Amino acid sequence: MTYEKPLYLRGVHAPRRGGLNLLASAGFVIAIVVANWLVFFHGDAAPQPTLDERLAKPVEILPADALLPPTDTRETPTTRVVEGTLARGETPAQALVRLGANPASAQSALNASARHLDMRTLRAGQKIVAGLLPDGAVHSVTLPVDETTYVESIRGEDGFSARRQEIATDKETVEFACVVRGSLYESLQRCGADIALAPVAADLLGAQVDFFTDSRRGDILRVIVDKESAGGRFLRYGRVHGMTYEGRLANASAFAVDQADGSVRYFDADGNAAERVFLRSPLKYTRISSDFTLRRLHPILHAYTPHRAMDYAAPKGTPVFAVGDGKIVAMGKKGAAGNMLVLQHEGGLQTYYAHLSSYTKGLKVGDKVPKRMLIAAVGSTGRSTGPHLHFAVAKDGQFVHPRALQEVRGQRLPEAQLNDFKARVGNLVGRLKALPVKGNDSTQS
Ligand SMILES: [Zn+2]
Repeated sequence: MTYEKPLYLRGVHAPRRGGLNLLASAGFVIAIVVANWLVFFHGDAAPQPTLDERLAKPVEILPADALLPPTDTRETPTTRVVEGTLARGETPAQALVRLGANPASAQSALNASARHLDMRTLRAGQKIVAGLLPDGAVHSVTLPVDETTYVESIRGEDGFSARRQEIATDKETVEFACVVRGSLYESLQRCGADIALAPVAADLLGAQVDFFTDSRRGDILRVIVDKESAGGRFLRYGRVHGMTYEGRLANASAFAVDQADGSVRYFDADGNAAERVFLRSPLKYTRISSDFTLRRLHPILHAYTPHRAMDYAAPKGTPVFAVGDGKIVAMGKKGAAGNMLVLQHEGGLQTYYAHLSSYTKGLKVGDKVPKRMLIAAVGSTGRSTGPHLHFAVAKDGQFVHPRALQEVRGQRLPEAQLNDFKARVGNLVGRLKALPVKGNDSTQS
């Protein structure tokens, strides 16, 4: 079927005046609590942008503890180190003054930094570390750019000079087997792994085993994975060479296979696609503020209207990613939806991203975008009560629950590669099975 009206507007334009119902409001609050709970236990850490993506489009809000102060800002008898984060609407110079710096020296230090970092891209929450002389004059300023990069401005004989510094990262391959007791998070922590492995496992094995309903005490997760760290601090897990889950109710596995285009795909031991075709969510969200429902009290219209989408609350500027490979079929202002982008995917599926504050520079209708590409930033344009992403999914012209995307599985490994793959998997499985199992009471010393 075809639509004369934009899909998003359906139902919103013809509200039935239902009046404000307190019971319904209470129900809505409970629904939010339940949704949060589900997100916490079921949710997936949204995709991490690559370093290149972040440097190209720095819309991500940096974690406040992104970086330790480098050597030059360590406490010395003559300088004291101050540290803070940018407040909303504050310039870096204002933040430095608030932290005790003298305004003129703060400005000079930052002018040097500005040659290596576009200050306009800094957001509230951006960390700033400075070394101050006893009179409040700035000795040095460090601005973390991302987990492994910072810009440092240091006072010298002829004023300030700045440089962009990369922290060397260490890569190693780690392997372990971990017995499951409680949630996957708890189990991994008990086994000494970083909990960042939990969403990785959920991504790679989640289509084969439901960690919420199918995992049982005593199940074993085995993994051989690349791990990146900087200065002894864990950064991220990389390529998963092999991962298996031996469960009482379900078994699952995933093994990496390099693709001709340089990407990596994962297959189970039989050569079936392990990963889901679509991401579980298009952003790293704070909470689900409104779920897919055919009956919702509209926050602005105060009437019951269907909400055939998911609303993800997130700060303005939060990166929005394409949930799957697709083509941009619409992009622009669309009434109540505000700034909206629509992607067409294979299999008659479309994804809608609404209320956006901006689009990634250079994107236009007709462009092909890969899964996990940064396409836009969260906003509150159109009919919206606060910054959130309205995310809708349509299949063959009908809005469906976004979870339908999770049932889509990828292509099997091509027959021609199957023999080589199985031989390699055989070796990896041998290695995985030989690992000592951690996290058992009886094996803990
Ligand atoms: Zn919505």
